[in-house]
Amino acid sequence: VSWLPGPWAPIPISGVWPLLGGQSRRPGHLSTAGWSLDTRGCLGFEALAQTPFLSCLSVCSVTSGVKILPIPVLSNNYSYLVIDTHSSTAAAIDPSDPLAVQVRTPPLPRRGPGWICAHKWDHSGGNMALRRRYGSCRVYGSACDAIPELTNPLSDKETVTVGQLCFKALFTPGHTVGHMVYLLDGKPFEGPACLFSGDLLFLSGCGRIFEGTPETMLASLDTAADLAEDTLLWPGHEYALDCLTFASLLELENPVLEQKLQWANQQRLEKRSTCPSTIGEEKEYNPFLRTHCWELHRALGLQRLRGEDWDSFRARVLKEVRHRKDLYKAN
Ligand SMILES: [Zn+2]
Repeated sequence: VSWLPGPWAPIPISGVWPLLGGQSRRPGHLSTAGWSLDTRGCLGFEALAQTPFLSCLSVCSVTSGVKILPIPVLSNNYSYLVIDTHSSTAAAIDPSDPLAVQVRTPPLPRRGPGWICAHKWDHSGGNMALRRRYGSCRVYGSACDAIPELTNPLSDKETVTVGQLCFKALFTPGHTVGHMVYLLDGKPFEGPACLFSGDLLFLSGCGRIFEGTPETMLASLDTAADLAEDTLLWPGHEYALDCLTFASLLELENPVLEQKLQWANQQRLEKRSTCPSTIGEEKEYNPFLRTHCWELHRALGLQRLRGEDWDSFRARVLKEVRHRKDLYKAN
């Protein structure tokens, strides 16, 4: 099973910490993690984070060329620092907290990183402070979601290049009218693609349908489900335990789900991150990606009506799962 340690298994950040020099890390307090790509100190990246829901920060080596640092912010949000180790460049995804993601001011030549936002305040609250501090940074995001300090509005399937990192923006409305997710191309690094899914897709869950219909959300979820099975999923929130528990109440006999729930339980007991998952895994237990499965239809007591269009039926299934999840959350 692919969530067990593989070539992209997290490694402790403490190994690279000495390169940045200075303070030590104090779990549970304002802690600092760092990444330095050049031993002469040409360029370094630094993430400061209060770690309310993680016991430690760890950097994930997707391939030898790409490292990803999930940064816990607010009560359950993830920002991500995506580092291209060849060109010494990084992009920050969803910098919600201005204190959480900072770049060490590099000596000349100054290479500005890019900030990429999914949408709305809990994912973009840090933009203004970051732009004030790093004026050369570009802020990419959906043109429709009123993202603060947006310098480069994106449309569907537009690409953003930061160093050798190439992200494709995918329009996935439903949670908000302009919601976008970002797909990092794995080919230049001979590794899997990475999906930064914001509030579209979580481990075993999906975002609430605030500004759209179940049909809109279904089409957006299909966009994610159509990606390669080995695509790594990096969601905008740590909701795994809640979502897996809910899924296990719906589908009672799904061994893959049971196994993942047990694993997530252990991870969260130790306050460890449950990221990343893969699209292939998610399709095996995430009810929001299983609207085509008869096991789920049976569990919900739903049947396709005579003459009902297949996608209309799946949207009805999605609406019911979302409704039950909303009720579950309320209790
Ligand atoms: Zn969110």
